[in-house]
Amino acid sequence: MFFTKKSKHPETEEQEKSSEESALQALKDRIDTAKLPPRAMAAATKEFEKLSRTDPAMAEYSVGLNYIDLINSLPWNTSSRGALELKRAEAILNSRHYGLAQINERILELLAAKTLRNAIPPRILIVDDEIIACTNLQYTLEKEGYSCICAANGRKAMDIITSTDIDVILSDLKMDQMDGLQLLEEIKLLDLDIPMILITGFASVDSAVQALKKGAAHYLGKPLNLKELKKTVREVLQSKQTMDMGKGPILCFTGPPGTGKTSIGKDIAEALHLHFIRISLAGLRDEANLRGHRRTYIGAMPGKILSEIQRVGVNNPVFLIDEIDKIGQDFRGDPASVLLEVLDPEQNSRFMDHYLDIPFNLSQVMFIATANDLSTLPSPLLDRMEVIEFRGYTKSEKTHIASQFLIPRQLKEAGLHQEQITFSPQAIGKIITDYTKETGLRNLEREIASICRKLALKRLRARETEAAFPTIQIDEAAIHGFLGPKKFLTDSSADPPLPGITTGLVWSGTGGEALKVETARMSGTGQLLLTGSVGNVLQESAQTALSLIRSKAHTFNIDETLFHTLDIHIHFPAGAISKDGASAGITIFMALLSRLTGQPAHQDIAMTGEITLSGRILGVNGIREKLLAANRTGIRRIILPAANEEDVLALSPDILESLQIFQVSFIDEIIDQVLIPLSS
Ligand code: ADP
Repeated sequence: MFFTKKSKHPETEEQEKSSEESALQALKDRIDTAKLPPRAMAAATKEFEKLSRTDPAMAEYSVGLNYIDLINSLPWNTSSRGALELKRAEAILNSRHYGLAQINERILELLAAKTLRNAIPPRILIVDDEIIACTNLQYTLEKEGYSCICAANGRKAMDIITSTDIDVILSDLKMDQMDGLQLLEEIKLLDLDIPMILITGFASVDSAVQALKKGAAHYLGKPLNLKELKKTVREVLQSKQTMDMGKGPILCFTGPPGTGKTSIGKDIAEALHLHFIRISLAGLRDEANLRGHRRTYIGAMPGKILSEIQRVGVNNPVFLIDEIDKIGQDFRGDPASVLLEVLDPEQNSRFMDHYLDIPFNLSQVMFIATANDLSTLPSPLLDRMEVIEFRGYTKSEKTHIASQFLIPRQLKEAGLHQEQITFSPQAIGKIITDYTKETGLRNLEREIASICRKLALKRLRARETEAAFPTIQIDEAAIHGFLGPKKFLTDSSADPPLPGITTGLVWSGTGGEALKVETARMSGTGQLLLTGSVGNVLQESAQTALSLIRSKAHTFNIDETLFHTLDIHIHFPAGAISKDGASAGITIFMALLSRLTGQPAHQDIAMTGEITLSGRILGVNGIREKLLAANRTGIRRIILPAANEEDVLALSPDILESLQIFQVSFIDEIIDQVLIPLSS
């Protein structure tokens, strides 16, 4: 809750003063009882002191109140009790999604590793040459749930440390053979990351100071105060565990939109009994949106990260940062460094929000990033992420998902019962082919939702006229009535052969697509013109294709002098979408060859592949998405690089069953497939 100053009825000066004083006292009490860590307590106290000297009528007063309120309400030490019950998590992940078994398995593996690491009772090594002292300590600490091992001196302790996992060492200072300080030195020398608590006699305060200087985590004086011992062990372990929890890679879900990335993120939170937060970075322009504005700024607020953590009230939620590849081009600040600071466990334990102005520990948050296209991500970020790929769906997978998940959900949303309304598989197939075009499920769900709302209206009208609402079977013919004329024409294979136009299969973060390449020639001076939002790599592919044709002009029966008297224009329709990549090489080559020789090109054939100047065809990415796009557009004949054979073999039969695939290594192998010879 943020405070604003309300106007009050006039009161006597004294009454006003006393009510301000009691409000300040209440605030002070809240600070004192909020169990703040030392840095936060110091910041809140400093701000409170400033506030008590400020006139409540001043704007700074409410700024200060809001700041203290933020500090008080942040979950500095509040965590929810997450736990992985493997069976339950497996059931949640598998029952809510179709066809994601492999992805679910990888997620479960990662979660299991994280959870196991934190579920093992911490192991304490007690080093003391007095057996009784050792046994007493062991008894006390094992009662606290720790597992303990004893060693009689530093030498024996080193033997144990090198062969067993130890979380904390509790060592006496004075011992035979190797004492506590020597043990500490040896541990530091071997660069072992094990915190050590030293127990010293009252007489050796100097050695205690020396121990702390040498890197001991804490020291305790003799005689031991058991309460203090337990507290110290707990604190030392806690800071070690917090660091451990955040360790491990950041999960990054990548794939086209609508393939289940966000919903799997939500299910992970549910499976682990954790809170779920989602923010999107799409179009984000200012670092301050993430990290907040400094308080000197008028209207300053904390950034999205911190305000979401404040909203859920725990410091260990599952936090989905959506579309990290869509940060606005004109982002003010360095997106990579902000994201690293937020996502990287090495850095996020001291996350600085500019408004809060003291570090907040995000290392217990389980961050999941999503991206459509990884190619735009900075490599320092990519290196730290465990990428899990989500793929587009085939028509039969979509049909299955629609009937099992999307239709029941949308019927429920519209207040209808599943038993009353059924969709035939053909009806679902029609929605998929005629009303949606993408590889994911968003538009399919939207169209289904639209039909369900229309059914809800029908049902309400029927109720008004008191007629019983019949059970409805929605078949293919009914879809037009609900959704109107087809939104997409699928059969581009029906087009007659045309000169200078070929179809390429392209792939981007949003999935695959079949795109035409069009060429024109006109008299000129040998210039090559490219239009349609093309990137540098695509421009180079076009240059390569043209040079290849020129260098082999005589083989293709093209008059070489033509190239000095013609201008050539290559256009990639759908100019609003920017295109780049080398995989359109053979498509451009065939379109140019068709244009320059006058031989028409078959329109029911689509291709993808990079070409080299010597006419070799190189392998490309995104074969699955490209073939799904061919399926969606009704293209049956496909030319692919031979180098992609493995990708084709990995595809499921339902993608391949309606396709005829030619795998080629050289450009000569495709000319007769694509071009129709001119009758002489
Ligand atoms: P993304 O985050 O990848 O853009 P979403 O998670 O928002 O996609 O998914 C869009 C819709 O499709 C959601 O309603 C989701 O539940 C559903 N969905 C996606 N993949 C599957 C699947 N494999 N099985 C069932 N439903 C799915």
